[in-house]
Formats: sequence, structure tokens, C-alpha cells
Amino acid sequence: MKIAILSRNKKLYSTRRLIEAATERGHDVAVMDVLRCYMNITSMRPSIHYGSKDQTGFNAVIPRIGASVTFYGTAVLRQFEMMGVYPLNESVAISRSRDKLRSVQLLARKGIGLPITGFANSPDDVEDLIKMVGGAPLVIKLLEGTQGIGVVLAETQKAAESVIEAFMGLNADILVQEFIQEAGGADIRCFIIGDKVVAAMKRQAQDGEFRSNLHRGGSASLIKITPEERSTAVRAAKVMGLNVAGVDLLRSNHGPVVMEVNSSPGLEGIENASGKDVAGMIIEFIERNARPNRTATRGKG
Ligand code: ADP
Ligand code: MG
Repeated sequence: MKIAILSRNKKLYSTRRLIEAATERGHDVAVMDVLRCYMNITSMRPSIHYGSKDQTGFNAVIPRIGASVTFYGTAVLRQFEMMGVYPLNESVAISRSRDKLRSVQLLARKGIGLPITGFANSPDDVEDLIKMVGGAPLVIKLLEGTQGIGVVLAETQKAAESVIEAFMGLNADILVQEFIQEAGGADIRCFIIGDKVVAAMKRQAQDGEFRSNLHRGGSASLIKITPEERSTAVRAAKVMGLNVAGVDLLRSNHGPVVMEVNSSPGLEGIENASGKDVAGMIIEFIERNARPNRTATRGKG
């Protein structure tokens, strides 16, 4: 097969591993910097150009689109979809997952366990918003944050009010969430391929930190998840429409709650913690599933 990987950097662990796994299985791989792809959107014959060449003949595309380039990146991916190329994750699903508010609304619709979450626009409603999610301590999140940046723990009512008002004053979109204290600074990353959790790891925050992101100094270890956690993670990825996803769960007193669903989950942490060839499993999934025009939306999203 001819596989395109949309990635801004060939040297990143995840990109390297995908190139390796695909090449090992005899596929032809091209890595493209999504910001250097340009498109002809004319009716009937959509095309993508890269390095001044018309890019044709791809059977599948693996999007590894960074949070900072979601807008352009999903447009390029949509163009591949219009050309009939099979996307590992499709553009609409990636757009959904990048918006934390939209994600929690979609998950809530399907009855998936979530921390109590609120959203408001006006500073006049802040006091009531805080009450609604159960008061301090609470977590405040920028809607488009990633890697733990833009996630704040407000320990008191006053701290919560002033942080929320400050974000609102900057016109930053935020959501407010119940703090799952009993998780003890740990979360569970479930790596989903298709309808299975293929690997899971526990991430523990550094001492004095509540965010378990590896980028924030969290440490990863192997964990055995419960059947309830497994089915929650699989359902969450399905609701988002993602074939490959990193579903992050917190162990709360009322069962597993989904914190977020990542559409470009990193491979380094999970491969190291689990000792599994996750990149190889991704390529095998593509081999089993890639067909021309096989998406839920065909670029219509
Ligand atoms: P990001 O997209 O920046 O990773 P997350 O929503 O995943 O944002 O939050 C970052 C980290 O903060 C999580 O991995 C988790 O450790 C912690 N965290 C987030 N929300 C909560 C919450 N409601 N209760 C407890 N811890 C949380
Ligand atoms: Mg996260």
C-alpha cells in the first residue's frame, strides 16, 4: 500500500515508529508536513500538492496533526478524504476531539461517565457556575489546551472566581469541572485501535502536581484495567468517531470518568510502558480496513 503520514517532523518518536512499522510490512511511506501541503479544491478533481508534485495514488493517510495546526491540518485531511483516500482518523472526528466542550457534550449525550462539567460566558454567572459543579476545589480548563497547559486547579472559592474572571477577561473559552481528588494525581491512558483497548498505562503526576501529563513530569507504568474501564474507553472513542484514540480516564468514587479523548495519541509512553508494538498494530488495522472512500462523512463534515 501507499501510505501518507501527515506529520511536521519525521524525527518524532511516533512518526519514526509508524514509518518503521509500515516499511517493515512492505508499504510505501511518504511523510508530509501538513503545512506544506497545498490544495486545488476545484469541483470534480480535488488534488493535493506537496513539494511541487501532485500527490496521487495513496491508499491511506495517517494524520498526526498537532493541536496548533488543527484548522489547516483537518482541511488537508478533508481534501484527502474528498480524493477517496482512507484516513486512519477522519477529519470531523479530529475536529470534535480538539474542542473539549464539544467532546464532553457528545460523550454526555451517550451517557458516558464524566466529571461534572460546566460552561458559561458571562462573569455574572461565575458564582452560580462554581456552585453547579460542586464548589471548590475545582478544575478550570482552556477549551483548546493540550499537554496540561491551560489546566488549572483552583483550591478555594475565591481562587476559582478570580481565575475564571481572568480567563473570561482575556476572552479565553474555558470549562469548569469537578476536581476528582480521589484519583490522587493519576489517570489511565487507554490506547484504542478499532474497538479494542490494545494497551493501557497509568500516569502519575509528580509530587505536588495534580496534572499527570508526561509533558508535565508525570511518570508512566503498566496497569490492569477493569472491564468497566475498558468498555467506557471503547465507547468514548466510538462516540467521537475515532479509530485510533488515547482515552484518558480518572478513577472516581462513582466509577471511571472520561477526561478527554485524544486523536493523535503519542506512541512513546505507551510502547515503553506496555512493551507492545502499537505502531505495528496501527499499520495492521489500516491493512484490514483501508478501502477507497471508506469514511463516515467523505469529507462532508
Ligand atoms: P490536556 O489536554 O492539557 O492534557 P486534560 O483535561 O487531560 O488536559 O488535563 C490534564 C491533566 O490534569 C490530566 O491528565 C489529569 O491528571 C488532570 N485533571 C484534568 N481534569 C481533572 C479533573 N477533573 N480532576 C482531577 N484531575 C484532573
Ligand atoms: Mg490530557
